[in-house]
Amino acid sequence: MKNKAYIALGSNVGEKEENLAQAQKHIAMIADTKITRTSSIYQTVPWGKTDQDDFLNQVIEIETEFSPLQLLSVLLNIEINMGRQRKEKWGPRIIDLDILLYGEQTVDEPELKVPHPYLCERLFVLIPLLEINPDIVLPDGTNLKEVLIRVKARTDNKSIPNMLDLNKGSHIDTPKSGSRL
Ligand code: ADP
Ligand code: MG
Repeated sequence: MKNKAYIALGSNVGEKEENLAQAQKHIAMIADTKITRTSSIYQTVPWGKTDQDDFLNQVIEIETEFSPLQLLSVLLNIEINMGRQRKEKWGPRIIDLDILLYGEQTVDEPELKVPHPYLCERLFVLIPLLEINPDIVLPDGTNLKEVLIRVKARTDNKSIPNMLDLNKGSHIDTPKSGSRL
């Protein structure tokens, strides 16, 4: 049976847009898996470790026959194939691929936690995720649209990810907190 999953992509080294595109090409080649939706690309100031280049972030929806752990293993391989080296926590990376959600499933294994533990704190995943599925809820019933409104309300404007307008090379402001996406 096909399962719907959401993957967060992030890059802050080299040709970042190209890295996001390349990762999607790899994901599209996973057996019995297809990409069904892709969000816009968002530009985000770094989180956790702030003395590094801006990130580009994107979320994609896939349908897959792979189990959550199989999917994680393929994604980690794609990261390695694309040249990612794990040096420091939250440090610079060519590509970061995180499983945000996997159907209605909750996974609590040492190497995999789903829903992703920081999903409800990170605007750079909440905003693109809700862009492609505005009605999404967590397995415990949490409505992410409401989470987004709360998190935006306590975030200063410069830390809110901007949608990257790839045609103009400029940025479109995301809506203020409380308004619709
Ligand atoms: P982060 O994504 O938090 O910046 P890493 O990409 O270096 O950090 O991931 C470290 C480890 O996190 C991975 O090796 C993986 O085993 C684990 N992990 C736990 N839950 C998830 C998830 N939902 N998606 C991706 N990796 C996860
Ligand atoms: Mg990761």
